[in-house]
Amino acid sequence: MPKSDPVLTRETRKRATATMETLGDALARLTKEGELYEKLPDNKVRCYACGHRCLILDGHDGICRVRFNRGGTLFVPYNYFGALQCDPIEKKPFFHALPGTLAMSFGMLGCDLHCGYCQNWFTSQALRDPMSTAPAMPMTAGQFVRLAVEKGADTVTSTYNEPLITSEWAVEVFREARKHGLHTSYVSNGNGTEEVLDYIKPWVDFYKVDLKGFDDKDYRQLGGQLDNVLKTIEMLHRKGFWLEIVTLFIPGFNDGEDEMRQIAKFLVGISPDIPWHCTAFHPDYKMQDRDYTSRRTIIRACEIGTEEGLRYCYAGNLPGGVGAWENTRCPKCDETLIERSGFMVHSYRLTDSGACPKCGTAIAGCWDAAKTRAAVGGLRAFDRLPRAVRPRS
Ligand code: SF4
Repeated sequence: MPKSDPVLTRETRKRATATMETLGDALARLTKEGELYEKLPDNKVRCYACGHRCLILDGHDGICRVRFNRGGTLFVPYNYFGALQCDPIEKKPFFHALPGTLAMSFGMLGCDLHCGYCQNWFTSQALRDPMSTAPAMPMTAGQFVRLAVEKGADTVTSTYNEPLITSEWAVEVFREARKHGLHTSYVSNGNGTEEVLDYIKPWVDFYKVDLKGFDDKDYRQLGGQLDNVLKTIEMLHRKGFWLEIVTLFIPGFNDGEDEMRQIAKFLVGISPDIPWHCTAFHPDYKMQDRDYTSRRTIIRACEIGTEEGLRYCYAGNLPGGVGAWENTRCPKCDETLIERSGFMVHSYRLTDSGACPKCGTAIAGCWDAAKTRAAVGGLRAFDRLPRAVRPRS
């Protein structure tokens, strides 16, 4: 993958490296013993929180850098947040899960992949890139959930770094969230294992996977393996998580029509009801050498998804510029059921049971008509923020 590292002076890099070391010390304290691992002879451990299944020797870290072996015990991130924000649930993006409501979102630090175009690199690449120095903010799960309730969120979401690698903490937060009647979700790269999915299943309602393409060679450049992500998607559907898929189409990387069609065929083979979000790239992090994805490319991906049989294909990151591809339409009679632009829901016409009001077809998803209608009629906390302080898409 082409890279254009930020130009750093020697002094800047020295300061950034020193900050990273201080952050490393802090993260080493904000830990507890993990639950997703097995102890092996000679003080070795095997972690199975993500598809890497690291064999970690005593005194060493896993590939993610935030889970580490000390004396034959695996320590994992605990009791802190690396980023917090109350977002529209459409931003995750979930379009078939409580539309119009808010998701109180949190991230920790670290990732099992190292994508050069990561939009959350300041949290995800902590301890790997000296310029990635988001602070760890100590806070309990109870304090966070109180904040979510105060903000009027209906869902809490683990995002901004890879949730799988911090699953013990997510489960603690979600346990607390459930006591307050909140829904829960993961925004993930999908590099999972059967063990971690079984561990989180009782606590996670909605799961978004970022399927980054359909080429194993490209996946390996990012630090993953295509086959493992595909297996995770199959398992998520089989185990009954509400699942939505996103593909960020990057010019010259994964935006060929063949690749779009392979993705769509794969998803249809699991279920035509899986929503597929085809989103546009903007230059970020180390990938500054190419242009934004064109409107035409994103619309073409949606058309291909529909041709292959997917019932719900959406164009993302181009608000107001992709016609009906932001809306939910009935797959049987083509009635417009939910109108959107960007993260805004403008109208909602599903019946209380989540069906098309014209032909009665059931629309797959997790619906709460009362909550969505209230959100469409009023202004969410997010929409009341002055534009200058709104988060980027
Ligand atoms: S979470 Fe993944 S990358 Fe991190 S130690 Fe465990 S298996 Fe390795």
